[in-house]
Amino acid sequence: MMSAARPPGHACETYVELKARLREISDLGSLQGLAGWDELTMMPSGEGAAEARGRALATLAGVIHAKSTDAELGALLRDAKPTEAKDVANVKRATEAYEKSTKVPSAMAKKQAELGSRGYQVWAKARAEDDFTSFAPVLKEWVALVREKCALVSPEKATYDASMDDYERGLTSARLSEIFTVVRNGVVPLIEEVYAKKTPTILAGKNNPLLGEFDVEKQAKLSERVAVALGFDMTKGRLDVSVHPFTGGCGPNDVRMTTRYKANDLAESLTGCIHETGHSLYEQGRCAEYAGQPVSEAHGMGVHESQSHLWERMVGLSEPFMHFLLSELKTEFPKDFADVTPEVLYAAFNCVKNPSVIRVESDEVTYPLHVILRTELEMGLLDGSIEVDQLPELWNEKMKKYLGVSISNNREGVLQDVHWSSGAFGYFPTYLIGAILACNIFNAAKRSIDSLEDKISRGEFAELREWLRVNVHERGSECDSADELMMLVTGKPLDAHEFVDYLRAKYVKLYDL
Ligand SMILES: [Zn+2]
Repeated sequence: MMSAARPPGHACETYVELKARLREISDLGSLQGLAGWDELTMMPSGEGAAEARGRALATLAGVIHAKSTDAELGALLRDAKPTEAKDVANVKRATEAYEKSTKVPSAMAKKQAELGSRGYQVWAKARAEDDFTSFAPVLKEWVALVREKCALVSPEKATYDASMDDYERGLTSARLSEIFTVVRNGVVPLIEEVYAKKTPTILAGKNNPLLGEFDVEKQAKLSERVAVALGFDMTKGRLDVSVHPFTGGCGPNDVRMTTRYKANDLAESLTGCIHETGHSLYEQGRCAEYAGQPVSEAHGMGVHESQSHLWERMVGLSEPFMHFLLSELKTEFPKDFADVTPEVLYAAFNCVKNPSVIRVESDEVTYPLHVILRTELEMGLLDGSIEVDQLPELWNEKMKKYLGVSISNNREGVLQDVHWSSGAFGYFPTYLIGAILACNIFNAAKRSIDSLEDKISRGEFAELREWLRVNVHERGSECDSADELMMLVTGKPLDAHEFVDYLRAKYVKLYDL
């Protein structure tokens, strides 16, 4: 604890004390992560269990909030003057978090929590009943609350920028519209060409080998073997099943990831598991020396998503990976894959289905537009140029314009995603930022690692994983923005053109465009 009689000038001692307090907050956060994971995977389904867990988690959140807003922590943050760059960044990140939490009055924090749980219930019912009008009032409350909060926390920033800062530090609307314009202009015409062809040339007239009947236990064995081959350390984590796959847990030494299996679709469980493995490798690769300190935490949602996308798409959906994967598939499902070639498997995994109206079911080419559409709408909501009541109509218009599809009901339209029910405005863009960063980072890795693609085809992933650990994972939250991190990792800021070029080259070849 801080001594009241401490003489001035002991910045070093102050920093040690500060780190101990930050570590304590992080420890409590680890238990929160563990209880949250348990709730979604292991907890008994009876109402009593959920109620007790809810209460315990609320108590824990209260303790964490008190410790995170303690005036003594504020004093330590002001007085600590470390000199090492990583320690300086540590204090900077901790100060930002402290300021964010202390600027929100407790009445507002309470209102947020209340609206969060009410919002979820109302949204789930509205979606089930395809009734946007019952969700609209909650959404209006959220828009007002988020605006109010942003004005309090970051009065110097535009509302959307302030809101995005919670998910991707340093990203601004101006930078985002630069990036999204490049992607939109590149992807919209590509989608038209791909749809016109319908099927990858090599798959024409053939059955998709990934659709059929696949024993779920065998799928689980396969997924675990692939995750371990990519580098998931089973002595520092677990793989379980949940309704919606996620990665969480207690930090680098105890990472909990989940997946799900569909008996009739092998691709979904495999790509889902590789995606979560990417998140897990980031968590397991965080800097051990700074464990429990804010600077060791993941940079933000966009960079986290870059790691899952890198393993899922840049590696897992690549042609070289199919050579490795096919031998694994033949071990588990010998009959189904006896006559399949790596080329056919590659086409089967990368087939652009009919334009899905649902974001989470969409493919690599159409996915960016699902994200852009939501981002444009939420930007409009926060800057006041769009009213909540206009959302369904604008949503459907944009789906027609970007993806050429008609929306028949709000369940499959504006009500499909959970994010807005918890006031998470500014979260969506991180999905696309992650996809672009994945491409930029993978290209940099290819430049640094000799014959990376040959290594991937032989199932040798250690060098790539190690490169990512040093270049991305261990850097944690050192940088002020993803662009700054990219300068260190790839030598240039995020590059959307490179992402469009990657998509174009891949799909032109696959579809003979
Ligand atoms: Zn993810």
